[in-house]
Amino acid sequence: MTKKNKLALLCSSVVLTAGLAAPVYADSHGTNPGTPINQEYSINGFISHEELSNKLFQIEKSSQGVVDVEVAGYSNQNREIYTATVGTGDKVLLLQSEIHGNEKTGTAALLNMLQNIGSSNSPEMKQLREEVTIVAMPMVNPDATELNRRGNDMAWEDVVKDFPQLEDAQPSWNYYTYTNQYWDYASQPGFDVNRDFNPNLDYEPQAVDFPADSTHPGWYITPEAQTVRDVYKGLMEEHGKVDVFVDLHHQGEYYVEGSDDKVTLSISGDFIPDPNSEEGEKYSEYADTYDFEFSRQLNVAAYDALQDRGDSPFDNITLYPQNLNLPGTALGSFALNGSGAVLFEVTGQTQSYGQKKRGQLVKAVELGVYGIIDQVASGDVYEIDADRYYDIPLTDRDQDYGF
Ligand SMILES: [Zn+2]
Repeated sequence: MTKKNKLALLCSSVVLTAGLAAPVYADSHGTNPGTPINQEYSINGFISHEELSNKLFQIEKSSQGVVDVEVAGYSNQNREIYTATVGTGDKVLLLQSEIHGNEKTGTAALLNMLQNIGSSNSPEMKQLREEVTIVAMPMVNPDATELNRRGNDMAWEDVVKDFPQLEDAQPSWNYYTYTNQYWDYASQPGFDVNRDFNPNLDYEPQAVDFPADSTHPGWYITPEAQTVRDVYKGLMEEHGKVDVFVDLHHQGEYYVEGSDDKVTLSISGDFIPDPNSEEGEKYSEYADTYDFEFSRQLNVAAYDALQDRGDSPFDNITLYPQNLNLPGTALGSFALNGSGAVLFEVTGQTQSYGQKKRGQLVKAVELGVYGIIDQVASGDVYEIDADRYYDIPLTDRDQDYGF
């Protein structure tokens, strides 16, 4: 079977699952084969929101103004959501982490990178800061971080208070009210913030657009998604474009297809059907801005940087399932608006993996993101053959389609 055929097969299963109205994600955490039941993993190695605040201001101070930290907005429970900006170049990269509060390595990686890029006076780093503007948003869903869970901390009633026109609407499909051995959304409900994005950055919620499902865009009903959207729009106004958007996540434990090697990290640039294709026709107004070729080039840049480490866990990098239709994700919405988009999916959520291999996994994220930044800064990324994307090994995900 050719790789492309295999891809299509794999993805049809994913799309079927993603079309279910219920929050299918509940299952992927609760009953995922191999998920230890009633086992508590330590996550002390990962930081709290308060520690993030302290660390960011410490980085800003020690960089002597090279890193600029701002409060971009507030979570539903009133915690600060930050931007940390470094560099003054024309090419703009927005890097986001922990939109799911139990997916934490991205935050650690971004802090290490801000510290390094902001404090180094090497000629290479000075040059890099002149070529690119890096806007990092670590821990964009701090209420979920504090609860060590996927969803934010927000009731449907809070949404109706903000948008009275939704009084008679049904709660959106990504609203969690279930309880399992890990989480009690019944008494503390919340939304999957990473389904609340809409490619129309000026969209206002309307009752007719609820409850919808994963194949429809979101609504910007959560303050966390609104904050990221506002930062994105602000960068577009200032720079004309956000060239690159990277979103840092975690997944379950999987194998590299056709091998016994455990996946370290999966990457992807494919979240919505191409607006230039028949399947993507409903996004045709974005046909001119969508740039799948550039997303693939960026993924190859990340992949190459990890492969450069030679024979090591950093070799075990795979493609995340392809041919998705998830316009409510930040990646889907921002890709339609013209950003080259890259998904990182590190192995293991905190409930099933704790902080095992934390150092190695944080390093893998850093290596991949540096690969992207370096190649954008040098301009080399634009020379990459985008079809090399399809040479990245696939992930063996037969055990779980709970995306
Ligand atoms: Zn995630």
